[in-house]
Amino acid sequence: MSENKDQKFVYDFTEGNRDLKDLLGGKGANLAEMTNLGLPVPPGFTITTEACKVYLASGEAPAALRDEVSAHLAALEAKMGKKLGQSDDPLLVSVRSGAKFSMPGMMDTVLNIGLSDESVVGLAAQAGNERFAWDSYRRLIQMFGKTVLGVEGELFEEALDEAKAAKKVTVDTDLDAADLKKLVTRFKKIVAKQAGREFPQDAREQLDLAVEAVFNSWNTDRAKLYRRQERIPSDLGTAVNICSMVFGNLGPDSGTGVAFTRDPASGHAGVYGDYLQNAQGEDVVAGIRNTVPLADLEAIDKTSYDQLMTIMTTLETHYKDLCDIEFTIERGQLWMLQTRVGKRTAGAAFRIATQLVDQGLIDEAEALQRVNGAQLAQLMFPRFDEGATTTLLGRGIAASPGAAVGKAVFDSYTAVKWSRSGEKVILIRRETNPDDLDGMIAAEGILTSRGGKTSHAAVVARGMGKTCVCGAEDLEVDTKRRRMTVGGAVIEEGDVVSIDGSTGKVYLGEVPVVPSPVVEYFEGRMHAGADDADELVAAVHRIMAYADRVRRLRVRANADNAEDALRARRFGAQGIGLCRTEHMFLGERRELVEHLILADTDKEREEALSALLPLQKKDFVELFEAMDGLPVTVRLLDPPLHEFLPDITELSVRVALAEARKDANENDLRLLQAVHKLHEQNPMLGLRGVRLGLVIPGLFAMQVRAIAEAAAERKNAKGDPRAEIMVPLVGTVQELEIVREEADAVIAEVEAATGTSLKLTIGTMIELPRAALTAGQIAEAAQFFSFGTNDLTQTVWGFSRDDVEASFFTAYLEKGIFGVSPFETIDKDGVGSLVRSAVQAGRATRPDLKLGVCGEHGGDPESVHFFHEVGLDYVSCSPFRIPVARLEAGRAAAEAKGSDSR
Ligand code: PEP
Ligand code: MG
Repeated sequence: MSENKDQKFVYDFTEGNRDLKDLLGGKGANLAEMTNLGLPVPPGFTITTEACKVYLASGEAPAALRDEVSAHLAALEAKMGKKLGQSDDPLLVSVRSGAKFSMPGMMDTVLNIGLSDESVVGLAAQAGNERFAWDSYRRLIQMFGKTVLGVEGELFEEALDEAKAAKKVTVDTDLDAADLKKLVTRFKKIVAKQAGREFPQDAREQLDLAVEAVFNSWNTDRAKLYRRQERIPSDLGTAVNICSMVFGNLGPDSGTGVAFTRDPASGHAGVYGDYLQNAQGEDVVAGIRNTVPLADLEAIDKTSYDQLMTIMTTLETHYKDLCDIEFTIERGQLWMLQTRVGKRTAGAAFRIATQLVDQGLIDEAEALQRVNGAQLAQLMFPRFDEGATTTLLGRGIAASPGAAVGKAVFDSYTAVKWSRSGEKVILIRRETNPDDLDGMIAAEGILTSRGGKTSHAAVVARGMGKTCVCGAEDLEVDTKRRRMTVGGAVIEEGDVVSIDGSTGKVYLGEVPVVPSPVVEYFEGRMHAGADDADELVAAVHRIMAYADRVRRLRVRANADNAEDALRARRFGAQGIGLCRTEHMFLGERRELVEHLILADTDKEREEALSALLPLQKKDFVELFEAMDGLPVTVRLLDPPLHEFLPDITELSVRVALAEARKDANENDLRLLQAVHKLHEQNPMLGLRGVRLGLVIPGLFAMQVRAIAEAAAERKNAKGDPRAEIMVPLVGTVQELEIVREEADAVIAEVEAATGTSLKLTIGTMIELPRAALTAGQIAEAAQFFSFGTNDLTQTVWGFSRDDVEASFFTAYLEKGIFGVSPFETIDKDGVGSLVRSAVQAGRATRPDLKLGVCGEHGGDPESVHFFHEVGLDYVSCSPFRIPVARLEAGRAAAEAKGSDSR
């Protein structure tokens, strides 16, 4: 990271705006935006992510940073009429991290920077409140000790608990100035002992160390884990916000709170948030003391409440979206400390998007950008069966929807351990903190006994799309003894519980689950316009209609039987993009395939093929009927033949045992020979795909005949079959030419015999690098291409897909070699670039070449955007992913239109 001489590393809040998130981080950009909107934001400035990047690359802050901070600090001091740490009347500041994306796991906040043994006295005098000053000082030492100097946070908590116990009180507000003074001495000793240095008394040193700690917090293990999970690039760095302090802990006329401009779970308008009197910000989010609902603020301080409501309306109208905010009231004066477009549940995202369209705040194209395929997928999860008999244990706040069932575990370590061995677990805690992140990831759901909708557990679970019930106060969680008690019942570690993140209910045992209403809607069992259709279904219906209206990509299904095809059709499939015929060779038919493989003479082979023909034909008739009027791409046999034969070891043992008994079976012996002959070191690169068709006489011809005869039968039954024949694993045009010649002849024969004109097309998969590189030539013989991005990824990377995910992908993900498996999201730079050039070359040869994709990537949101961009005609994916692909195809088109017109 090189430094540019004129680069500016510090921006005053008045200099930024919300579009500068890359540079100022989300928090900094929004503080600037609110400042410019004229909202009451305490003055301050932001150190850019660029400064952080220099620090992370070189281990030192940019040379110019110190002077720039000095200049901005001087300006802030002039504005506030006091100096940082000044002994008689100190200016105090908060230091907060703020990356482009909100990231739990990074250092959050250090408040009250500027307090020292001297200035605490000045602050007490200025505020006329000694208790407040010492409380602020002990908070500084605690937060600074923990996050900047790396002291174990528990040590401070324990000292605080002891101070409360000594005084026989339960809440910290009952400690007076003298108690807090003693606590400060104790805290300082903890710091000196644990950090090996005194707590710094110099205000500027405090500030500089805190800034450096924020930079370093970008690379904590928790932050890295979160980034990997959320696919946040690891090189963005964080900004640092330095903001003059306002105090919510000055007495009962002060306080702090968090709020949403509308309900983040339903999207409904209303007053949603928590308020805590006489407290500083972190107290609310940590769920340490019990908050009151925001609506109660009206009775506590009506002026501030009214002002807050007006500001929330201003923010929603300005951001045209749900916002969440943090605020503080200092002796009746309201201050805005943070805002951002708020996280929401998947269901609320759909509802809010349509509500905002109805309010005229956004248009349909924008509504599509407000939701995504991952959220839709989440809404398609099953829910608990309302008719089931259940044992209700208690009820908490419905913090993140879904139905989760699992064994109770009471710490993160066990959650991770058990889930690794295949157990489903529910992580139960009194409240969570960033240390619980890996346990939360490993768990099916999260249950806490404390904290509200804005507690750590709730916010993080919503972000992850994980089921969460929080603040279930009836539950007595005892993490040390690994159990919880509710009423008289005791739930031990390992007992099964079920939690409902949509209602907040907690049940003992396993509650059966039922399909989601969104799936019922897609299945056609619930109509969006019906009286009993819920609001969510209506919102999904509208958004899907927007997506279908704008999308260019068609969406097909990977399906190989009539049942899947019909479901796919109900879900909106516009055809079948991949019917894998290998499944039609299994089960009872395996024996026929064995005959084919073991055939010594043409006669034997022909007999085996003729036995398979009617069975194949019947499959196709059913499929064409299910997809009547829509294209059905049938792929000729692809997998290596040994897959249809018995396992080599099993068979060897069987033969050996039989020989020992002198009871050898002739057929088994022949089979074993065939298995040996067909055994390959690397079957994925062996005798499979088109190669099979070229060396097993009559195999592809039989399949083509079955397709053609099935199509003819459907035609004669007045159906509208639209079959497309697809040849797998082609690497060179010559292979395709030979298969095609044979296929054309068979089709012509069937047409003549049945008196029909079938209009079958013949194309190929592009799933080998050579096929992609010679796509221009291959297009001479292919009427369509379907990119087999599973095999293409495998062969471009040289990864055996059946082996690598289990063996070393975790290491690769951990080392950041890729952020996500290339088998999940298309590797745009490598595999994607071959797709792009093959599209161009193929179309150059044959302008009307039809182009699609049928690898797993066809249903992956990010990959769908890529396929839109490179100009494919369709994506094909498993039936359940079709709605997601439709939505993402719509989003891709709307996004492209938006950027064209900009
Ligand atoms: C592919 O390779 O992308 C593909 C769809 O084929 P299969 O997964 O059946 O090899
Ligand atoms: Mg393949």
